[in-house]
Amino acid sequence: MSAPRILPDITEVNRPFWTGGATGELLIQRCADCARWQHPPGPSCGTCGRAVAAQVVSGRGTVFTFTVNKQAFHPDVRPPYVIAIVTLDEQDDLRLPTNLVDIAEAELRCGLPVQVRFEMYEDVFVPVFGPVGDV
Ligand code: ZN
Repeated sequence: MSAPRILPDITEVNRPFWTGGATGELLIQRCADCARWQHPPGPSCGTCGRAVAAQVVSGRGTVFTFTVNKQAFHPDVRPPYVIAIVTLDEQDDLRLPTNLVDIAEAELRCGLPVQVRFEMYEDVFVPVFGPVGDV
């Protein structure tokens, strides 16, 4: 269940997140001062206001919540597809809105361990999540 994409506008701030997949890396901003991870990317740390830099994370996480969309809301994005929020292993509140792929609907559950993979569209590498160890 892979959805066609409406691609993001790439900026200097979000470029690492959307292009890290070119080398198989999920890049998430981390504060050099308070060490908190943050997503979505911003110009500075949302906690302490100091500088952030993109760092490689494990790409492992768990499904926080999800829904299987079967309604066609946009003509270019065909259902069904799974919309999810994944909590990355690096921090309890580090959550990414994403899609789940290659997981049977009957297997979907909150708390399911997942691992990142990337869908390439032009120069954008969209992070999506699927079964652990199945990349
Ligand atoms: Zn900080």
